[in-house]
Amino acid sequence: MQVQEISSSQQAIELEDKYGAHNYHPLPVVLKKGEGVFVWDVEDKKYYDFLSAYSAVNQGHCHPKIVNAMIDQAKTLTLTSRAFYNDVLGKYEKYVSEYFGYDKMLPMNTGAEAVETAIKICRKWAYEKKGINENDAQIIVCENNFHGRTTTVISFSNDENARKNFGPYTPGFIKIAYDDLNALDSALSENKNVAGFLVEPIQGEAGVYVPSEGYLRKAKELCEKHNVLFIADEIQTGIARTGKLLAVDHENVKPDMVTLGKAISGGVYPVSAVLANDDVMNVIKPGQHGSTFGGNPVAGEVAMAALQVIEEEDLAENAEELGRFFRAEMQKYIDDSTIVNLVRGKGLLNAIVINDSEDSSTAWDICMALKENGLLAKPTHGNIIRFAPPLVMNKEQLIDCIEIIKKTLQDFER
Ligand SMILES: *Cc1c(COP(=O)(O)O)cnc(C)c1O
Repeated sequence: MQVQEISSSQQAIELEDKYGAHNYHPLPVVLKKGEGVFVWDVEDKKYYDFLSAYSAVNQGHCHPKIVNAMIDQAKTLTLTSRAFYNDVLGKYEKYVSEYFGYDKMLPMNTGAEAVETAIKICRKWAYEKKGINENDAQIIVCENNFHGRTTTVISFSNDENARKNFGPYTPGFIKIAYDDLNALDSALSENKNVAGFLVEPIQGEAGVYVPSEGYLRKAKELCEKHNVLFIADEIQTGIARTGKLLAVDHENVKPDMVTLGKAISGGVYPVSAVLANDDVMNVIKPGQHGSTFGGNPVAGEVAMAALQVIEEEDLAENAEELGRFFRAEMQKYIDDSTIVNLVRGKGLLNAIVINDSEDSSTAWDICMALKENGLLAKPTHGNIIRFAPPLVMNKEQLIDCIEIIKKTLQDFER
């Protein structure tokens, strides 16, 4: 059977519409090539990528070091399953554990799987180490969280679209307000069966909500006081995105567990992981968790190369510096703007809030205009636009991008 060739963006969109499940609502742009901070569409129009595949492509599109690591390993050995050892996994586990300063890591493939893994480890730890009665463990989560799309993970989402008609839901979660230490303190004091607190250091999907300074540090202290595991979901915020290796590093917090995904592979391959120290990780015994592809040799080589790039190219420092510049420049614009209310973020994970109702199409229309002007971004939660370019961007390029954004917004001023 022959594969249909794509000759226009319109045709590609029609094929997806007809043959693909409609579980996404993409911006109407069909990309065929990427390099560094740029992507090209089927008609050869060039764009700045200001989404970076939801912060998976921190190292830039098709980074040669990462792609070559994948090609070399793909030609040698791709998958053994964990029924046998392979000669990459051990060194990969050592590399990642030492890189982030933990005793051990557990390799998976997607972000949602890493979160599922952390939940399972946390529950098992609760029964076997903390002494909670079986099936009674509770995990505290935050309102407006995003931790993925599996049945358990959507069970504690409060996005109606993500939840409705997917029940019955997994029990065992307590939801509290984000960035609210009193709410956390009460939830910990009122419930004897809390095993963990699962939190995003910055809520990315919700619209890049940065918590008050000190929130993460004090939340960690409260968890320690109640013998509860502090679990940081760094799938979007980790790997230099916010100007530090992990977003919790801004407050010198060391979580009991960290989930990583997205940029741990530079967007080249699905790779995720959970980090923990021995007292937590050792509750998992053979047969109790796994994945056919988790920890495969290609994933290991890709992730090690991707993490090396972060170090070699000083991407955390670059994100910190460019992020400050971006917010300062946007703020100058916002001071005289009626269409943009505010800019917020850390490092190169930023968002602007559009001055219109959540159900208006203004943010979408702005993103369509940005696309025409050569920059790709996507609204999140109606009136918020996230700006998260690859971290390999240089200042000259960022200045160019700020010009595009300002020029585009100008047309929407009233
Ligand atoms: C993207 C994301 C996930 C889910 O990752 P997938 O690879 O899409 O399953 C989980 N948590 C956070 C914070 C994310 O941004």
